[in-house]
Amino acid sequence: MASNMYAVKCPCCGRSAIIDDYYKTNEQFIYCLRCGYNYAKTIKSYTDQSIEYNEEKYEGNGVFILVKKDGSYENMMLNNVTEKQLEKYKASFIDDNVDLEKSYLVSYKNGVFTILRGNPPENFHLPFEAYRKKMIAKYGNPEFDFMVPIEE
Ligand SMILES: [Zn+2]
Repeated sequence: MASNMYAVKCPCCGRSAIIDDYYKTNEQFIYCLRCGYNYAKTIKSYTDQSIEYNEEKYEGNGVFILVKKDGSYENMMLNNVTEKQLEKYKASFIDDNVDLEKSYLVSYKNGVFTILRGNPPENFHLPFEAYRKKMIAKYGNPEFDFMVPIEE
């Protein structure tokens, strides 16, 4: 199915999130690898006259990006994360197979980001407007204004 993927301002944290927009069906998926927000709008049912959509939304509580030295990659968007889970994620950094340069664990609560482990990339910290300017400076103007390139 045809979709456009590009960066958008996260409605939760205001940094850069990713949208996967199925423009033919109007279905949309938004996920934020900064705060963990995610949103899905999918078709519930349709007739010839109308389409009914399902909407699901999860407030972000942070992200956990785990990169291993063998090249495997895991990303988890945290929703309703507990202290106990965070402790468990922190513990997974104590592993020789983990690429500590690329892995990170960040919590997001009440509008505040806290880096618990690792070093998020520079783009992680940028508010969406600053991110957009950086992408346009790097890649040039997108074909359509709203199609801001995605970069980790
Ligand atoms: Zn966000």
